[in-house]
Amino acid sequence: MPARKTLDGFDFSFQPSVPERLIRELASLHFLQTATNVLFLGPPGVGKTHLASALATQALGAGHSVLFTTLAGLAEALEGSPSPTAWRLRLRRYVQPRVLVIDEVGYTRLTAEQAHALFELVTARYEKGAILLTSNTSFAEWGGLLGNEVLASALLDRLLHHAEVIAISGASYRMKDHQDRVATRSPMTTVVS
Ligand code: ADP
Ligand code: MG
Repeated sequence: MPARKTLDGFDFSFQPSVPERLIRELASLHFLQTATNVLFLGPPGVGKTHLASALATQALGAGHSVLFTTLAGLAEALEGSPSPTAWRLRLRRYVQPRVLVIDEVGYTRLTAEQAHALFELVTARYEKGAILLTSNTSFAEWGGLLGNEVLASALLDRLLHHAEVIAISGASYRMKDHQDRVATRSPMTTVVS
């Protein structure tokens, strides 16, 4: 995982759109038994990766297997396989863990081959293993992301059947110390650091 993140280290008061009760309930890990997916949606810096990592860390602590990947890493790993058997073996790496975290969905547009691989993966884990996913992209845009509207709708159908969708809106935590300075600058000189 990118860095060690815990729920204790998450400031719920900074991000009131995050449903704290639901997050604490998810931390009980009951969602693993029901293979419920958890999707964190929202703009950059609102804590999506933090919360997904914290739940994954909780699962690791309880002795479950966890695999953390970005969508870009996953897409790269599942393309260009020499044979169907080799491809199945590669896919298995992402199907077997009790928890699969797919971070940063939305930054990478997938090739047709990668989009089909992602669909196969979501189908293979459907009702078997939970996926924790973070995205800055609304579901309506997934057709463009996968380059295929029909495939995107079939994938979302499976992904969302048993799922908690946590849409986070608010300011970036990364920018919190810069807010005053950004707010006092004139629009012509606003700098994003
Ligand atoms: P996102 O994935 O939504 O872009 P991150 O989860 O990577 O955002 O958060 C950016 C940084 O800010 C990380 O270091 C994260 O730990 C921290 N962070 C975000 N929200 C909070 C919060 N509410 N309380 C404490 N730290 C936070
Ligand atoms: Mg992130």
